[in-house]
Amino acid sequence: MSGPIRDIVIVGGGTAGWMAAAAFAKVLGGRFAIRLIESDEIGIVGVGESTVPHLKLFNNLLGIDEAEFVRRTQGTFKLGIQFDDWGRIGERYFHSFGGLGPDLGLLPFHQYWLKARRQGKAADLGTYSLNALAAGQGRFMVSASDVPPTSPLANIAYAYQFDAGLYARFLREYAERHGVQRIEGKIVDVALQPDSGFVEAVTLASGARIAGDLFVDCSGFRGLLIEQTLHAGYDDFSRWLPCDRAVAVACEKVGPPTPYTRATARSAGWQWRIPLQHRIGNGHVYSSAHLSDDEAAATLLKHLDGRPLGEPRVLRFTAGMRRKFWDRNVVALGLASGFMEPLESTSIYMVQSGIARFLNLFPWSDFDPVLMDRYNAQSVFEYERIRDFLILHYHATERTDSAFWNDCRTMAIPPSLAETIRLFRDSGRFFRQGEEMFALVSWVQVMIGQGIVPEQYHPLVDQVAQSDVDGYIANVGRVIASCVQAMPSHAAFIERCCAAVPVPA
Ligand SMILES: Cc1cc2nc3c(=O)[nH]c(=O)nc-3n(C[C@H](O)[C@H](O)[C@H](O)COP(=O)(O)OP(=O)(O)OC[C@H]3O[C@@H](n4cnc5c(N)ncnc54)[C@H](O)[C@@H]3O)c2cc1C
Repeated sequence: MSGPIRDIVIVGGGTAGWMAAAAFAKVLGGRFAIRLIESDEIGIVGVGESTVPHLKLFNNLLGIDEAEFVRRTQGTFKLGIQFDDWGRIGERYFHSFGGLGPDLGLLPFHQYWLKARRQGKAADLGTYSLNALAAGQGRFMVSASDVPPTSPLANIAYAYQFDAGLYARFLREYAERHGVQRIEGKIVDVALQPDSGFVEAVTLASGARIAGDLFVDCSGFRGLLIEQTLHAGYDDFSRWLPCDRAVAVACEKVGPPTPYTRATARSAGWQWRIPLQHRIGNGHVYSSAHLSDDEAAATLLKHLDGRPLGEPRVLRFTAGMRRKFWDRNVVALGLASGFMEPLESTSIYMVQSGIARFLNLFPWSDFDPVLMDRYNAQSVFEYERIRDFLILHYHATERTDSAFWNDCRTMAIPPSLAETIRLFRDSGRFFRQGEEMFALVSWVQVMIGQGIVPEQYHPLVDQVAQSDVDGYIANVGRVIASCVQAMPSHAAFIERCCAAVPVPA
């Protein structure tokens, strides 16, 4: 049997690096030496500000107090994403976290809704989602403990929106408190062991040499170890996800923060709006083949709610993933492992799931390839399912107003997605694959929101008497509406539970 790993070196101090440092420090305790190298000169991307509900689990693992976390990061709460102008200009839908109405018998809520909708007896799908309805009214609360467990208020799914720079600082404090050693400096050289090709050490511009048993590459898009040193290779998704740039700028806040992120489709991409306590984060994600940087920035600035706080900053990327996420003694997390645009706020989640997966497969010092192979297979699966979900937003559109949307609407899509759409279009069926990130309710909301209307509903819906279906749909609507009425405004909730120190404009 080989010995244990002792020295862990994390390269990079962005969101990925500090998330890894915090989690490793918490889980691996004092038995490992954990060092993190970051370069102030290079800095961080610092734009990942909208998340998914899974982050709550990460915080729970670290034992982070939610109110403190939200306060320290100027955070707000997120019930889902509002999509404007995606299926058609002028249309809107909400991809909410959490469920729709409860299942009835064998079938999920949306199957009965499909029948009722055809009969003209049901409102928009969002009417039957606590999150969508509450978001539209600017209301928010966390799950209530003083209601019956079957109440929608007993189990409210939500995520966070936060300042990425403050989040990295918050995690850094946590990690350092738990024994992680931070080293500031720019890595200028990487040494490999001659026999194994494993990374042996990195050298900083100062001349300091830092050796380790395990290297975690969180160096951002450059992939300093995984790509520049080990040449893992890259699977390019840009034939399906053509957006390759983003221009980002924060603006002054105007009015109370909305409890959701907004994604508005534009002529060659889309624009995000992420409300925080002290400002609003904005960005325009676009295809450089269809729009120049100047045009993209002008569109972004034209659609801000408040005065811009600084100059718009352009970021370039290629949608895709590394062919190997873990190679030899290097595992890549965050942007070093790949990137798909932030349409569904999946990147920070993928850092989290990569950390969890790696801890699950944590190797001995022989780095048995069987562990690495499993890690890589699971990562590829996760990436490809999220990729399909993102492509769905672009492909399932009726927009014909620009070359970009015409290209997206008519492009060939991966067979896996084509099959998913065919199944849904036939009779509203969807089957979650393995542990893929997005569940049935997400796919259903986006497919319907994008205009994929099933030709029929599940035949077993007709096993239930029409009057029972009518009563069930009406009752779900009533319960959701009355629960939402009982919720405070998002602003009032924040004020009461986790107001941050105001930042001067
Ligand atoms: C436009 C855009 C919008 C996004 N929006 C979201 C979102 O809403 N939600 C979400 O979940 N994700 C989002 N993301 C992704 C999110 O920003 C990243 O997943 C997250 O910030 C992690 O970045 P990182 O830590 O991998 O890289 P970075 O932030 O780039 O950090 C890299 C680190 O490596 C260090 N480094 C690099 N080279 C060297 C060297 N030679 N020597 C020493 N140190 C070095 C740098 O100093 C830095 O500390 C978005 C990304 C982009 C591009």
